[in-house]
Amino acid sequence: MTSTVRSLTSRAVSVPLANPIRTASGEVTHAPLLLIDLMTSDGVVGYAYLFTYTPLVLAPLKSLVDSLGAVIAGVPAAPAVVLRTLDQRFRLLGNTGLVTMALAGIDMAVWDALARAAGLPLVRVLGGAPKPVPAYFSQGMDGLERGVELAHECLEHGFQLMKIKIGYQTLADDLAVIEAVQRTLGDRAGLAVDYNQSLTVPEAIRRCAALDHLGLAWIEEPTRQEDNAGHAHIAEATTTPIMIGENWFGVHEMARSIEARASDLVMPDLMKIGGVTAWQQAAALAAGARLPMGSHLFQEVTAHLMPVTPTASWLEYLDVAGPILEEPLKIERGMAILSAQPGSGVRWDEAAVTQFAA
Ligand SMILES: [Mg+2]
Repeated sequence: MTSTVRSLTSRAVSVPLANPIRTASGEVTHAPLLLIDLMTSDGVVGYAYLFTYTPLVLAPLKSLVDSLGAVIAGVPAAPAVVLRTLDQRFRLLGNTGLVTMALAGIDMAVWDALARAAGLPLVRVLGGAPKPVPAYFSQGMDGLERGVELAHECLEHGFQLMKIKIGYQTLADDLAVIEAVQRTLGDRAGLAVDYNQSLTVPEAIRRCAALDHLGLAWIEEPTRQEDNAGHAHIAEATTTPIMIGENWFGVHEMARSIEARASDLVMPDLMKIGGVTAWQQAAALAAGARLPMGSHLFQEVTAHLMPVTPTASWLEYLDVAGPILEEPLKIERGMAILSAQPGSGVRWDEAAVTQFAA
């Protein structure tokens, strides 16, 4: 007999970050997370978390996810069936923003339940085998001194790539931080930079050209994320690879971006793209366009997805959920080591969940 969705519960937490994420477009000191527990008729529980960036939408997202839990009660606990059931309810409103996030969280939880029911790590359910995944040390807009300290930390952990956020007042400021961090990393680790959408297109073309001689792994989101034509101009004028993707809501936005040749590299966000099911569709788009595909946040689940992503490149290591997880993602010599436990690598440390309840 097919197992069905019995119930869904969600809890909001606010997790203090060891390293606050400073960007050219705002600062995050606590990670607002919505934790989802989805129970099937077999008594298996699937877990997933959503990251809302701002606490302002935690309560509305919780309310939405809880309402959708009632809609899928009794539906077969199969991701494609659950998604089709929910997607139909949003045909008239549209599936983007909070709706996409809610559906993604439910999709991740159903996949987790499926893997737990099978007694297998998610990667195996998806047809892959566990293997170490190259991860990079993702940091914020931390200035020169702190940037250099973090570069030392990067090397201590054995990461072979670090990313910092830039977009300082002037190009000279950007260059000073980049050069100091690169001097520290030497030839032991590469460097990527992230403008977090902070530049106009002409300013991005000017600044990116001035970074071209530095051998950066990529320049991320130089201008507004929805500006595909602008990014295409910047990519055309710059020899360093341009990376975008963390803000695509759904695979159709990714498809449009690829069609516009907006970037040289892609990095969907597991939540915004729509969950585990949508990630696999995104991986197919990237494979078809021969674009290297990295990840954004959600490192535990994404570590299971990278081995089945044909053009997989780097996993972003940025630990926003570690403090509330029973088994935070392990890094050994710069590689992410998948949990060998059944599921997607997400399971709550209940004491910590209580402590950080929002
Ligand atoms: Mg970014």
